[in-house]
Amino acid sequence: MRYAEHISDLVGGTPLVKLNTVTEGLSATILAKVEYLNPGGSVKDRIALKMIEAAEASGELEPGGTIVEPTSGNTGVGLALVAQRKGYRCVFVCPDKVAKDKRDVLEAYGARVVVTPTAVPPDDPDSYYSVSDRLVREIPGAWKPNQYANQNGPASHYESTGPEIWADTEGRVTHFVAGVGTGGTITGTGRYLHDASAERPAAEGGRVHVVGADPAGSVYSGGDGRPYLVEGVGEDFWPPAYDPTVPDEIIAVTDAESFAMTRRLAREEGLLVGGSCGMAVVAALRLARRLEEEDPAAAAKAVIVVLLPDSGRGYMSKIFDDSWMRSYGFLDASDGVTAGDILR
Ligand code: PMP
Repeated sequence: MRYAEHISDLVGGTPLVKLNTVTEGLSATILAKVEYLNPGGSVKDRIALKMIEAAEASGELEPGGTIVEPTSGNTGVGLALVAQRKGYRCVFVCPDKVAKDKRDVLEAYGARVVVTPTAVPPDDPDSYYSVSDRLVREIPGAWKPNQYANQNGPASHYESTGPEIWADTEGRVTHFVAGVGTGGTITGTGRYLHDASAERPAAEGGRVHVVGADPAGSVYSGGDGRPYLVEGVGEDFWPPAYDPTVPDEIIAVTDAESFAMTRRLAREEGLLVGGSCGMAVVAALRLARRLEEEDPAAAAKAVIVVLLPDSGRGYMSKIFDDSWMRSYGFLDASDGVTAGDILR
């Protein structure tokens, strides 16, 4: 019989799928790594597993311990499902601006969710940061993974995501594109692909070119922290999980472009994915177009892998909701469904 002992044993090993329609006019092969096929529905399962196992090994997390993390989404789900197997409690601290749906998902996995007011400064005792720090101090056996600083985040990608891409492309990947949030994905995967391709001859693609995709306004692409709506990526500070020497280039993408592409991926490629996925695909297509202009022969041989972090299910009331999109000016009033659309 072929079965896993536990759902957390199914983390990683996600497939690559070729993008076919959104790539029209481009000769590069563009392959998406579909991270929503992880058991918790996102790329974050990988770091959750590695951070917990490393904390057990170092003694920071002991049997019966409690995991406390300020997170509202994907990392919480990953931590909760690994914690279940190992008998840890989870407490997640979320600001009240986080949609109730997201908090409900964490509670459904058995986690305790503590909601803090958004409209207070970070040093207020009720802030998101103060409350999570206080809980860590007060709960016996509490451990805070701190995904923004924990080096086991990038390490998980060095050990799993990178080798999977290298093996599945038979060492032919030439470019890697991923969004940057904590920076763990691009740092670990990019570092592995650089190392794996360090000695590869130029005729076979040379060293892998690593591209970070970033929401326009975020610090990674030189912004000042100006607000943007795409979730999970971009920062207004430089997290220690991010090594800025790894990406060879950063491409900034606007919310409007990210969301339009996210909707196209669902409609045209059958990939119901989140907004940071649309953002990464826009960056990959922009890169492919530039290769095409610079050197069409090299572009035809390029193998661009773009990582899609999560599913679109968590964004139904935003990116996939026409009135939400329209309220931000991302859809024209005339962009509703027409007979032509239905018959197309
Ligand atoms: N997209 C989504 C939806 C995410 O939740 C995250 C993680 N914050 C990312 C992209 C970016 O991944 P990383 O933190 O590894 O940079």
